[in-house]
Amino acid sequence: MPDFGASELDTFRAEARAWLEANFPPSLKRGAGAPADPEAAQKPSADAELWRRRMGEKGWGTPTWPTEYGGGGLTPAEARVLRDEMERIGAYNPIGGMGVGMFGPTLLEYGNDEQLRRHIPPIVKGELRWCQGFSEPGAGSDLASLQTRAEDKGDHFLVNGQKIWTSGAHLADWCFCLVRTDPKAKKHEGISFLLIDMKTPGVEPRPIRLINDTTPFCETFFTDVRAPKENLVGPLNGGWTIAKRLLQFERQGIGSAQRAGQGPGVLSGPPVNELAKTYVGVDESGRLADADLRRRITLHLMEAQAHALTGERIALEAKSNRGPSATSSIMKNAGTMIRKERAELAVEILGHQGVGWGGEDFSDYEINAMRVMLRSKSGTIAGGSQEVQNNIIAKRILGLPDTTHST
Ligand SMILES: Cc1cc2nc3c(=O)[nH]c(=O)nc-3n(C[C@H](O)[C@H](O)[C@H](O)COP(=O)(O)OP(=O)(O)OC[C@H]3O[C@@H](n4cnc5c(N)ncnc54)[C@H](O)[C@@H]3O)c2cc1C
Repeated sequence: MPDFGASELDTFRAEARAWLEANFPPSLKRGAGAPADPEAAQKPSADAELWRRRMGEKGWGTPTWPTEYGGGGLTPAEARVLRDEMERIGAYNPIGGMGVGMFGPTLLEYGNDEQLRRHIPPIVKGELRWCQGFSEPGAGSDLASLQTRAEDKGDHFLVNGQKIWTSGAHLADWCFCLVRTDPKAKKHEGISFLLIDMKTPGVEPRPIRLINDTTPFCETFFTDVRAPKENLVGPLNGGWTIAKRLLQFERQGIGSAQRAGQGPGVLSGPPVNELAKTYVGVDESGRLADADLRRRITLHLMEAQAHALTGERIALEAKSNRGPSATSSIMKNAGTMIRKERAELAVEILGHQGVGWGGEDFSDYEINAMRVMLRSKSGTIAGGSQEVQNNIIAKRILGLPDTTHST
């Protein structure tokens, strides 16, 4: 077992506990009306703003990022202690979004010093929102077929094309984008990773209105958009490698067990076994009356526990901050399936009470369960579909013959 320096960790735990108790506004404690998903809060309360500022200044929203750019500079073990201490008092991390989960860690690996100094501190402080301009109408699973062009015009690139499913583009300040810079090269070798300021003339995000009246994503059009050369990350035509790395960070986030209690597509509240006792009933020995449901719930809880423990083991065994690998595809598939299963079980357990969309006949939990059940299905598509992850697992982990170009 690695030695984590128990006494140093104890000292850090005491320091973290004292700081959190002095700085976390009690009104935001989970269950006291705080949003489960900080990203979902369009108009944060004054306390939520204060909490974001304090965590941003401390760097603890990005606990393991280098202090040089404002991050917390903590070891992975210290970051886990911080997470435990936040959980203990019902606190949440107010710094999130694609900047933290996807773009920031990628830039830390591939960005130059000027790009890091410019873009990392606002992410650490939660001041700017980023969106992901990868998918196009003709390029989803086959992402390398993307057609958005960026032409070299000396001191800038001129970008023309269309992205789709750009989550939060209408609210974002910046977009990390894949663009084609060499149309003559093989498709994987003519792509670059370019940063586009969403306020640049010619950038037009058009929100897609869904059947449930929300607009989580957009079609994003680029018409003669000028992106300065300094916004190119990594080498020209070297964007594919960077995109694959970013997708590993994305999949790690989507598949993480910590997400089990937070965010859209995740059902918080009582565990399904407790829910079933309330809604379905128990037999004379106190067990769930429905034997088939009991078996399925047990299987689900075992899978969820195995997934959470595997996630913990991966984190503990990581000797450095090297971040995720192709195994993020396994964790993504497992995590999203478990979340989907949980939400489906909950709706089944609720019976008639699980089919409401709104109205006073249904509790907030019951309405949420139905919405989360529908939303949970998207997790197996976003960040690369389940089948595409299976292809990656087959090729990169099992070493089976390559029949596709999986991202
Ligand atoms: C909630 C949500 C948020 C998203 N946010 C963003 C975002 O912010 N930015 C962004 O760029 N994109 C985003 N996406 C898009 C997402 O990355 C794509 O939907 C995904 O990569 C699949 O592409 P597609 O929708 O074009 O499906 P297709 O690629 O058309 O796939 C259709 C079906 O064919 C299967 N399939 C395709 N190729 C293969 C293969 N080689 N082997 C086996 N099966 C295959 C797929 O598994 C799928 O079932 C988001 C998607 C969702 C659901």
